[in-house]
Amino acid sequence: MFLKFKSLCSGSSGNSALLWTGASALLVDFAPGSQRDCRAALASARKLCGRVDAVLVTHAHGDHINANSLRVLHEEGLKARCHPEVCRQIGQRHGGKYAAVLSPFCDALTVGEFEVRQARVDHAPGYYTTAFIITASGPGRAYKASVFTDLHGFTGEHVGLAANSDLILLESNHDAEMLKRCGHPGSEFHLPNHKTAAFLHAICAAGAAQPRAVILGHLSADCNQPHLPQEAIEKFFREKGLPVKFKIQVANRYEPGRLITIV
Ligand SMILES: [Zn+2]
Repeated sequence: MFLKFKSLCSGSSGNSALLWTGASALLVDFAPGSQRDCRAALASARKLCGRVDAVLVTHAHGDHINANSLRVLHEEGLKARCHPEVCRQIGQRHGGKYAAVLSPFCDALTVGEFEVRQARVDHAPGYYTTAFIITASGPGRAYKASVFTDLHGFTGEHVGLAANSDLILLESNHDAEMLKRCGHPGSEFHLPNHKTAAFLHAICAAGAAQPRAVILGHLSADCNQPHLPQEAIEKFFREKGLPVKFKIQVANRYEPGRLITIV
């Protein structure tokens, strides 16, 4: 058995990531751009893993789900699975046209080999937003992936849920000093690099083992640079006396990232 991950796109222009085992595949958020972009992303996902079973949606912002992606999911007979309040907010934004696509779940969801739990995170006012904790069990081995895409803070509950993950997709939106200079509106609802570092450190300190892979997503185009989150993480861990044992990948804004395989 294995767990594989590939970021398809990441940032305020659109987010989507693919997580799969040999038997099941999930997209987390789906907003690659135009309808043509959505169809191409879905085709490349199916080429990689043979199938897509469901799309988990973190919240109703248009860079995570939108009219283009809902239309393509409808055409393809795929369901968007999310918290009932997220479903309601997506319906409010896009009308009843895509009601058949939206399929709510509250606490836990089974999709093929995956078990999905969700936890509420603080993000933008008026947008119910969740993180996903996704597990898959095979003979002699269980896999765990945690996805925190949009948030502006974290709690002890989040740390406990994410501890002992094999793979973590986590927002690292902006550098606090760059934000002071550029004053980008809305960035206050996203996680700055130093909080990403603190969250990862707390997760590592709480778990028996560090994650194998960390993917940093949703980097601001104006208030961040790809090397800054890694530097912030290394500095924070160094100050706390904990070695960084995981590999870090910064998710690309428009292009798919490198394939990550956890065996
Ligand atoms: Zn958002």
